[in-house]
Amino acid sequence: MVSRMEKWQELEQRLYMQIFKRLPVTLVRGQGARVWDSGGKEYLDFVGGWAVNSLGHCHPAVVEALKEQAQTLIQASNQFYTIPQIQLAELLIDKSCLDRVFFCNSGAEANEGAIKLARRYGKLRLGGAHEIITTHNSFHGRTLAMVAATGQDKFQEPYIPLPEGFINVDYNDAEAIKVATTTRTCAVMVEPIQGEGGVNVPGDGYLKEIRTWCDEKGILLVLDEIQTGIGRTGTLFAYEQFGVEPDIMTLAKGLGSGVPIGALLAKEGASVFVPGEHGSTFGGNPLVCAASLATLKFIIDNDIPGKVMQVGQYFVDGLKKLKARFDFIAGVRGRGLLLALGFTSDIAEEVMLACLREGLLVNCVKPDALRFMPPLIITEKDIDEALDILGVIFSRRL
Ligand SMILES: *Cc1c(COP(=O)(O)O)cnc(C)c1O
Repeated sequence: MVSRMEKWQELEQRLYMQIFKRLPVTLVRGQGARVWDSGGKEYLDFVGGWAVNSLGHCHPAVVEALKEQAQTLIQASNQFYTIPQIQLAELLIDKSCLDRVFFCNSGAEANEGAIKLARRYGKLRLGGAHEIITTHNSFHGRTLAMVAATGQDKFQEPYIPLPEGFINVDYNDAEAIKVATTTRTCAVMVEPIQGEGGVNVPGDGYLKEIRTWCDEKGILLVLDEIQTGIGRTGTLFAYEQFGVEPDIMTLAKGLGSGVPIGALLAKEGASVFVPGEHGSTFGGNPLVCAASLATLKFIIDNDIPGKVMQVGQYFVDGLKKLKARFDFIAGVRGRGLLLALGFTSDIAEEVMLACLREGLLVNCVKPDALRFMPPLIITEKDIDEALDILGVIFSRRL
């Protein structure tokens, strides 16, 4: 018998651009931290739509907001004022250190906006400075400019020549940023914790040192919080834990709990766009803003960041216990619910596939590291279940 799963996967291979290395699973339904495939198999989801489903799958607050807005007004264009967009703006500005916001549809697009804003600032305030310093192992998105910003050869090489004006230096090395700074520099853009690069937490003083340097030079600090923002690391924004404030910040992934939205935020002094210099057809439309407003309200009203801090610590403790039992585990890294388990050799893909068979979704972020980015609403019971599955898989390797 040909299962339905195989049919969809076979069709994909014929019709879809072959861009993704997909796992042989067709997901059809989700609820909370669980998803089900077309064969009815249940999985505990520690990928969470790629750090997107902050409230889990089909959270009632998000579903209700979408239902209500879908029968009210879905899209109106930015030629008009719409209410959910302004409500979401008000809440984000109230809860962050930034003063103004612009909504778009993805992370890459938010970062594009950040770079355009920094370049406008350079043109107006810094004598035409236009270069942006970014870091190796970073990830900022898939547009041509963001590929140039993303300091990883595998993303850049296929598309050379790349847009100019990006200098990639080592991460967690403030000195490298200082050395690369010239009169052409208008901004430094970094992730507070590198996500796609392998969950790399910088040293304590790194962001503070960059902040001080940017102030000294009068250049802008752009924080890409697309993965770290919206409670993921245990505070609403990761910058709060590092004792710095950015001039510009980008958000996306967790902001809409699944709907496609990105946000570009800036301090008043850096907010130099004038009408016509940037825009978006869909950006901040009533449907995605209603869902994002419901998400953000729920996260704030229920102190989800505080809970992330607690369950994240519980998860880290459990992972450390596994490390004590299995000598092929190199270490645990990350903050809140953005965590990675490092191995002493390249076994992460094999472990990830074993987890899949056992009903646990995890991400193989590096050949030697698994990444966990579950919904922010997971419980200690969910974590125990995931740890049990990992323990069983690791025992088989002994
Ligand atoms: C995912 C991600 C992006 C890109 O977001 P898209 O929505 O895929 O364009 C950019 N920066 C960081 C830090 C990310 O994690």
